[in-house]
Amino acid sequence: MRRLMIAGNWKMNTDLAAGTALAAGLGEAISGKELTVDVLVCPPFPYLQAVKQAVGNSGIVVGGQNCYFEESGAFTGEVSVGMLQDVGCDWVLLGHSERRHVLKECNGVINKKTKAAIAKGLGAVLCVGELLEEREAGNTEAVLDEQMEGGLEGVSAEQMEQVVIAYEPVWAIGTGKTASPEQAEQAHAHLRKWLASRYTQELADSIRILYGGSVKPSNALELLGQANVDGALVGGASLSVENFGPIIEAGLELSKS
Ligand code: PEP
Repeated sequence: MRRLMIAGNWKMNTDLAAGTALAAGLGEAISGKELTVDVLVCPPFPYLQAVKQAVGNSGIVVGGQNCYFEESGAFTGEVSVGMLQDVGCDWVLLGHSERRHVLKECNGVINKKTKAAIAKGLGAVLCVGELLEEREAGNTEAVLDEQMEGGLEGVSAEQMEQVVIAYEPVWAIGTGKTASPEQAEQAHAHLRKWLASRYTQELADSIRILYGGSVKPSNALELLGQANVDGALVGGASLSVENFGPIIEAGLELSKS
């Protein structure tokens, strides 16, 4: 069985005090429990080190929300893979829809970032997902294929051990509209089929595919209960212990069933 991952994307939210309090609160919420799922939090860059310290030895791991593909140099405003690792990150989110659509990142850049992360041993959560108009035009699978092909070009089967895929329909991110469990399962099954044809069935069966898009305590159990859904990437509801705690709990419950 694939180990579930419950990941929180804090986006450009919190401040130093709120971020460290949230991290410490999550650590307390899971303390004493057997951590049978991976729990990841991705705070803004300036708070990574403090959040890493605040999660202590709770088992929660920390990741960046983005990185650059070059190692160092004249790239004003960018953060390298090595810098993320230096402050204790195990993961980085790549290709998030806000980076694709607001900051205009293309598949080529996302691919370079993915390869840079895994070359240095940093886990990459590669986000893919269609816009509402693409879904309505019946193009969901074609869009997912293009983003998978573009993002994973040149990534070997061996390197895929460091990759997690996150399916995030853009129309469900931050909108309160969640994909139905059936819609999520259908897209995840398609992504797994893509992985099987690009690599092998065995590899496809081992890769985790998270669902993201308005996951909250009330829908987490049903979404996470789908056969091809291996966790959640959570935005808004990851910003409080009251909401993120029960989503982690849902994962823990399912991991034992
Ligand atoms: C996200 O930012 O990846 C996300 C899924 O956001 P939300 O849960 O708020 O829809």
